[in-house]
Amino acid sequence: MGARPLLNRRLEGLGTTIFAEMSALAAATGSVNLGQGFPDTDGPAEIARAAADAVLEGRGNQYPPGPGIPELRTAVAEHQKRFHGLSYDPDTEVLVTAGATEAIAAALLALLEPGDEVIALEPFYDSYTACIAMAGAVRVPLTLRAPSFRPDVDELRSLITPRTRMLLLNSPHNPTGTVLTPEELSAIAGLAVEHDLLVVTDEVYEHLVFTGGHHPIAALPGMRERTVSISSAGKTFSFTGWKVGWVTASPALVAAVRTAKQYLTYVSAGPFQYAVAEALRLPDSYFDTLRADLLRKRDLLAGGLAAAGFRVFEPEGTYFITTDISPLGEKDGLEFCRSLPGRCGVVAIPNVVFYDNTEAGRSLVRFTFCKRTDKLREAIDRLSGLRQRL
Ligand code: PMP
Ligand code: GLN
Repeated sequence: MGARPLLNRRLEGLGTTIFAEMSALAAATGSVNLGQGFPDTDGPAEIARAAADAVLEGRGNQYPPGPGIPELRTAVAEHQKRFHGLSYDPDTEVLVTAGATEAIAAALLALLEPGDEVIALEPFYDSYTACIAMAGAVRVPLTLRAPSFRPDVDELRSLITPRTRMLLLNSPHNPTGTVLTPEELSAIAGLAVEHDLLVVTDEVYEHLVFTGGHHPIAALPGMRERTVSISSAGKTFSFTGWKVGWVTASPALVAAVRTAKQYLTYVSAGPFQYAVAEALRLPDSYFDTLRADLLRKRDLLAGGLAAAGFRVFEPEGTYFITTDISPLGEKDGLEFCRSLPGRCGVVAIPNVVFYDNTEAGRSLVRFTFCKRTDKLREAIDRLSGLRQRL
C-alpha cells in the first residue's frame, strides 16, 4: 500500500478512545471499573418492557421516519417545556439521533466549514475533538482550571477572532462536573450575540445537577435562533446502550443538522424510540430519585477518595469526580491510570487526554460514581491501601 498512512491526516493521533482502553483494562484485570461512565444497574423496568413490547409488537422494527418517530419528537418537545420552559415544534424543531454522539457529529459536520474556529471548554469530551477534526475545523480551548474549573469570560472574549464560528458548550461538564451559572451563561450568550456565533450545547447530564440547577443557554435572549441543544436518554434513564439522543433548535438549524444526520446513520433505534418517549414522561419523582441516589453516591465516593489521599474537586453535576493525584506523590495521570488496576484493582480515567494544554490536566484523574454502592465501597476499600503501597 506504499508509504502513505491509511488513516487520513484529520484523524491522526485519535487512536482508540480512552474509555475503550480503560474498560478493556478493567475487564482484563478484574478491576472495579470507575472509568467509563455507564451505570451498572439498568434504568426503569417499565421502560425496558416498553422497548421489548415495541419489538414484539412490530413498532419501529423497520426504518422509522428520518427525523424520529412523532411520539418521541412530541415527548422531547414536552420535556423541554416541562423542565426548561422552552417551546419547540415537534415537527420542525426536534431531531432524533443515534445518541448525543451522532447529534454532536451531525451538528459539527453540518455547521462548520474547513478552517472555522470552534471555541470549546477544555477539558473536551473526546468526540468533540474528533468531530471538529472530521469537519476540518480548528479547536480553540477555553481552559477550565483547577480548583474551581470556572470559565473565564474575559479569556473567552480574547479567544474570539474573525474566524470563530461556534462556541461548543457542555454543561453539566464532563469530566470536571462544572455546571455553568446563569451569570456565566448570560456573559457567554452576550458574546455569542455580539460576534454572531453559533452555539452547540451538550446537555446530556441536564438531570444530574446537585447544586444550583441546570440552565439551558437556549432560554437566554438572542440565543434560541443560534443554539443547537443536544441531549440523550443514556444518562437520564440509565440505558447508555440504547443510543437515543436528540437535537432541539430552530427549523433552519434542525434542517442543517438533519442533512448531515441522514448520511451518518439515516435513522436508528426504532423500538427504543417508543420506550424513550415513555421515559421522558415519567413523573418528577423518577428524576428526583435518580438525582438523590447519585448525590449519595457522589458523597460516598468523594469521602472515600479524600480519605485515600486524593485531592477531591466536588462536582456540581454529572456522575464524575475529578481528583488531583499530587498529594499521593504522583504527577502523571495517564501513567497512574495505566498502573492503578495492577496496583489496587481500580480503573479511572486520566483527564489529561481531554486537554490541549496538557499541563493543566496532567495530574487530574476522573472517577465515576454511577455504580452500585457495594462496588463503590469495594473501590474505596481497594484505594485506601494506595498510600501505604507507594
Ligand atoms: N456528551 C458527553 C459530555 C458525554 O459524557 C457523553 C457520554 N456518554 C456523550 C455526549 C455521548 O452520549 P450518547 O451516549 O448519548 O451518545
Ligand atoms: N460518556 C462516557 C464517559 O465519559 C463514555 C462514553 C464512551 O465511551 N464514548 O465516560
